Amino acid sequence: MMQTDEVKKKDLTQKDTLLEVQNLKKYYPIHTGFFKRKTGDVKAVDDISLTLRKGETFGLVGESGCGKSTAGRTILRLTDATDGNIFFEGENITKVSGSKLRKARQDYQMVFQDPYASLNPKMMVGHLVDEPIRNYRNKSHKDLKPEVQHLLKRVGLREKDYYKYPHEFSGGQRQRIGIARALALNPKLIVADEPVSALDVSIQSQVLNLLKELQEEFDLTYLFIAHDLSVVKHMSDQIGVMYLGKMVEVGDNESIYREPLHPYTQALISAIPEPNPLIKKERIILKGDVPNPQNPPRGCVFHTRCPMAMEKCKEFVPQLKEVRPNHQVACLLYENQ
Ligand code: SF4
Repeated sequence: MMQTDEVKKKDLTQKDTLLEVQNLKKYYPIHTGFFKRKTGDVKAVDDISLTLRKGETFGLVGESGCGKSTAGRTILRLTDATDGNIFFEGENITKVSGSKLRKARQDYQMVFQDPYASLNPKMMVGHLVDEPIRNYRNKSHKDLKPEVQHLLKRVGLREKDYYKYPHEFSGGQRQRIGIARALALNPKLIVADEPVSALDVSIQSQVLNLLKELQEEFDLTYLFIAHDLSVVKHMSDQIGVMYLGKMVEVGDNESIYREPLHPYTQALISAIPEPNPLIKKERIILKGDVPNPQNPPRGCVFHTRCPMAMEKCKEFVPQLKEVRPNHQVACLLYENQ
């Protein structure tokens, strides 16, 4: 009986999982000298794993250059992984190519940080939004116009915006066009890479709320990439914190904010402004800058900036380990827990 329950539980978990990333690595070779010999690698993404459940949001957070955007692009197969596996609905898509990759790509789309750079300025909005559909279906602009105008309205634009060009819109409106374009193929997963960081603060919450509404309506799953933990908190069910290509902490949203375990996460959370002026909050200021990823520190990659660093941190690489329910951390402070 117990065995049957366990099997059922496993089936349920697998059924609920949309994306599973196992030990993903993305290295860029460093070539030096006259003969351009390979002398090392920049480990942009170094052995990260994560699981996205259907209909949920996984927030991937860290300072710029920590590898979170490269992770997103590698997961979407916009660049090839150096190692590791990416399972989408149980199928290993890490190495699929040609027509199989093309077919799989319908199910996952990306929303970019800078909508202006990602939209062809010479195309009218209607054609920008129908472009992904026309790549897969043999339909004309005219056939798709009602569908596209409906989509424009759904993201808060007007039907007549179909005829305009990207430069005629504000930053927030351009991001709405980017979102409409990402939705055009009715994807299951959207990787949103810093989708609001280029926008005014007043517009940010409108776009975040739109993303949340669309998630409900279209049953979307998000991988939400951002450097701002307050934005990630608003959006995410699970959170992963990256530092120098490594995942240093992963857990449920509530657990991460209630009890951040990694000194880096603690510093990031301490930097979130407290809306209540009566609550005094101590900010943890990290010393120095993020080290050069071409030459990361030995041992724990965070030890050069960590306020809790110990002698052994210079030597030993901490591994991610579950120390609370659904809450993992890679830090030697917890090695005996
Ligand atoms: Fe800090 Fe050491 Fe933990 Fe790294 S392992 S985060 S240096 S305490």
